[in-house]
Amino acid sequence: MAEPIAALRFCAWCPNLCRSAWPESGAQREAATPSALSALALMLAEKRVRPDASVSAALGDTAMAEACRPACPYGYDIPAAVAAVAGADHAG
Ligand code: SF4
Repeated sequence: MAEPIAALRFCAWCPNLCRSAWPESGAQREAATPSALSALALMLAEKRVRPDASVSAALGDTAMAEACRPACPYGYDIPAAVAAVAGADHAG
């Protein structure tokens, strides 16, 4: 789990340098950027938010993070890091 957490910590404070990979025609949803997902996943991992339906729905909205993943200059796979945290949480 250390590796996903480290990625989330870094990404949560990144100004979404990968965002250029998201098409202009796509809906711009600030809650779905990689850094926003990372911040929420980190809060979940640190038990600062409850794992309720709204959190699960937000963390499952990975279309933007998936599209931006190849453009991350740091090589992070944020959808995988989010899934690791969300899966660990759901596991108990
Ligand atoms: S995926 Fe990479 S470039 Fe995009 S916000 Fe996270 S750290 Fe920054």
